[in-house]
Amino acid sequence: ALEVRLASRPKGWPTEDNFEIAEVEIPTPGEGQILVRNVVMSVDPYMRGRMNDVKSYVPPFQVGKPLEGGAVGEVVASNAEGIAVGDNVLHGLGWREYAVLDAKHAVKVDPDVAPLGAYLGVLGMTGLTAYAGLLVTAEFKEGDTVFVSGAAGAVGQIVGQIARLKGAARVIGSAGSAEKVKYLTEELGFDAAFNYKDGPVAEQLAAAAPNGIDVYFDNVGGEHLEAAIDALNVNGRITMCGAISQYNEAEKPAGPSNMIQILAKRLTLRGMLVGDHKALQQQFVSEVGAWIASGELKYSETVVEGGVRQAPSAFLGMLRGDNKGKMLVQF
Ligand code: NDP
Repeated sequence: ALEVRLASRPKGWPTEDNFEIAEVEIPTPGEGQILVRNVVMSVDPYMRGRMNDVKSYVPPFQVGKPLEGGAVGEVVASNAEGIAVGDNVLHGLGWREYAVLDAKHAVKVDPDVAPLGAYLGVLGMTGLTAYAGLLVTAEFKEGDTVFVSGAAGAVGQIVGQIARLKGAARVIGSAGSAEKVKYLTEELGFDAAFNYKDGPVAEQLAAAAPNGIDVYFDNVGGEHLEAAIDALNVNGRITMCGAISQYNEAEKPAGPSNMIQILAKRLTLRGMLVGDHKALQQQFVSEVGAWIASGELKYSETVVEGGVRQAPSAFLGMLRGDNKGKMLVQF
């Protein structure tokens, strides 16, 4: 069976050379363990951080060892009570064809309720990030004008639509291509959207939000964050969810130059980690699941076929913006 290992740590933008595909024996499950044949896996921006040898909220990947990350697979052997051969489970050992893990680290998922990939995206980690980051971290309330960056991505497209469905006055998104911008306004019901590559974010945001914004959901950092601080109204809130514009920078990036506005406008900037919001999972799935069923909330996925061999290029493609919605690798 194949697995993808970290061959070396990237400096700046990663390349295929930082990954190595290795052939290993199919592992045998011990007591309380299951053997899973992965069917679909996730590639996520945070994995770039784990390629660096730095202390963070998750430990770094180890050179020469397989990478890890969200995956859904079919149980092919079980030495654990409550999980049977044929069950589908969500777990944390992607980047390999077969995974052995303690059953307590697997969550059963039902392919009749939603396609397996949805448990990695809209009904999974990225969907919960959007839900909690908007409703809890940003304390969204009806009538807010919301701006979200990375708006055509897995988290961003759900943020914008939840805001719309919960009564935002106006929802604005930014993304990196004309096609994505069109998708946001024509398919997902954003009131306005712009391509951040077309010109300064501050100017484009000011034009899209003539009355300013109340919430900024930050997936990107850098120039976007600075522009949002300029555009925020008094008592505005920022969810600090991610800063993907900076993940591949080799040097420490400069901070926003307009921090003084935080006090003048009494802004709140609050960081969030999805792992702190597991208690919301059921409420989130029932609310978002109902919107999907009624057609009020749409989502897209970009699915790369070909299994683990394609995982490094799918990951690199996601960092470049090749994806619309959740980037997945199908085995
Ligand atoms: P996405 O599906 O949004 O994929 C990443 C996207 O980032 C790309 O499609 C690309 O779209 C965009 N991007 C890449 N480089 C830049 C750049 N320089 N400036 C602006 N946009 C860029 O990923 P996710 O939805 O999974 O994640 C979105 C953000 O949320 C990330 O920052 C991630 O780290 C964060 N996150 C945080 C979590 C938490 O618990 N705090 C949990 C999950 C995600 P484009 O074509 O528009 O450039």
